[in-house]
Amino acid sequence: MKALEAANSIFDQLVAWRRDFHMYPELGLDTVRTAGIVAETLRELGYAVQEGIAKNGVVGLLENGEGAVVMNRVDMDALPIHEAGDKPYTSKNPGLMHACGHDAHTAMGLGIAKLMAENRDTWSGTLKLIFQPGEEGQNGAEIMVKEGVLDNPRPQVALALHVWNQIPYGKVLASAGPVMAAAEAFRVVITGKGGHGALPHHTVDPVTTAALMITNLQTIISRNVGALETAVVTVGSIQSGDAFNVIPETAELKGTIRTYDPEVRLRVLDRLRAIVEGTATMMGATAELELLPVTPALVNDASVTALVREVVTDVLGEDKLGDIQTMGSEDAAFFNQEIPGCYIFVASGPEDYQDRPHHNPRFDIDERAMVNGVAVIIESLHRLMPTKEA
Ligand SMILES: [Zn+2]
Ligand SMILES: [Zn+2]
Repeated sequence: MKALEAANSIFDQLVAWRRDFHMYPELGLDTVRTAGIVAETLRELGYAVQEGIAKNGVVGLLENGEGAVVMNRVDMDALPIHEAGDKPYTSKNPGLMHACGHDAHTAMGLGIAKLMAENRDTWSGTLKLIFQPGEEGQNGAEIMVKEGVLDNPRPQVALALHVWNQIPYGKVLASAGPVMAAAEAFRVVITGKGGHGALPHHTVDPVTTAALMITNLQTIISRNVGALETAVVTVGSIQSGDAFNVIPETAELKGTIRTYDPEVRLRVLDRLRAIVEGTATMMGATAELELLPVTPALVNDASVTALVREVVTDVLGEDKLGDIQTMGSEDAAFFNQEIPGCYIFVASGPEDYQDRPHHNPRFDIDERAMVNGVAVIIESLHRLMPTKEA
């Protein structure tokens, strides 16, 4: 089977699936309609289907003789964003939108399911297709792993991909090592003593304390993380007070930390704790810090990635192969920390891609990217699960 030809032959079907999912986006773990279509399609193709993992996760298993067990993971959820624009396939669910491309992922997952099932004489092994809800902040992957999705049978290799609008359609990017960062969310509640805005000396001002704390947190990256190390500290939200003449009682900060290296991660978290406590003490206030680990770093296995890079070169051409590393985070990390794998980025930016970044209300992809994604995955699956003669 020629992978690119095969993927091209189902282009219209991929577009139809993707636009249908795009029109009916669903949030978090509640991907009821999407999961229903996925399960039904997998059954029609002859897969053994398991539903209801992490609420609406679906697994399709195709046992096709001796050989490796290989999984391909797809995420299905959308975002709480109201779609802008007037495409014929604009979201029909107000306030919800597929602004990250998981509609395309689900469509590609079904395309992969179809081509692998219809060409089962060209490979030998067990294909485990995992359709996951709740990637955008609900850690659907972690829940699926806890509910046993990696058992019976346990995959030896894990593949997954993401459309990537940061660069124009054409390339496929796969790099060994850490490709996405470990993420934690943090929340700080500063408690002072409220009072009159004209009499600050009778108060403990949580607003000034918050301002100093944010400034001090900037020294973590500039003074505690080496110039050749990688970390991000961002305060993305500050909430305090309502009136111009009142010093409020409390202030709340929310932020995120991104790191690759576990040692750097611990150092950044230590400094975060020290600065939050120290700044509050200095100002006579108190501060409570809440830390919420979101995902571990997403690390690609060297030998699986080498195989995928070879596939990209053979299927699409050497000029289409690219490298990538980002500070974004992705809960596929929960699969990759258990199973050696490769998380692949498929360039999907349309002509005006700079106006259509991920999580933007105008997000849209060049749909031809789905052909590249399907071709690279099915060719990789064939090489990981060859027939005896092959
Ligand atoms: Zn996203
Ligand atoms: Zn995404």
